[in-house]
Amino acid sequence: MNEFMKMAVKEAREGMNKNHGGPFGCVIVKKGILVARTHNRVLETNDPTAHAEILAIREASAILKSFDLSDCEIYSTSQPCPMCYSAIHWARIKKLYFGTTKDDVSAIGFDDSFIYDVIKGNAVVQQFDAINIDRDECQGLLNEWIEKPDKKMY
Ligand SMILES: [Zn+2]
Repeated sequence: MNEFMKMAVKEAREGMNKNHGGPFGCVIVKKGILVARTHNRVLETNDPTAHAEILAIREASAILKSFDLSDCEIYSTSQPCPMCYSAIHWARIKKLYFGTTKDDVSAIGFDDSFIYDVIKGNAVVQQFDAINIDRDECQGLLNEWIEKPDKKMY
């Protein structure tokens, strides 16, 4: 078994046994060296975004003092949900290793297929209404950003 996936599984098991959250663990590695090791903490923290991958990205970014993790690899015990999948993109991580698939996870009750349906525009039922309001007023912020001389792109 892969050494880093083994760490992620150990982390997931510890979190699960402490009732911190579901059976999900994650490890971020930079050039073969462990940077962050986390598990799902949704139940412990009452934070619906406290998925292992999100926490690992936050931890690795803090440790490396960079929002750009393009020289890192991520190991997740399960195929990331759409939120984490997006976060991996935002972090610019170039390689994802995952153990179980989203179908395996769905089979034990963690079904995120409805989010994929929403993203693809195939959703039959929407969980919430998304209403576009005050576009012009909000556009002012974008214009201010364009003009901001000391902006830093990320
Ligand atoms: Zn997730």
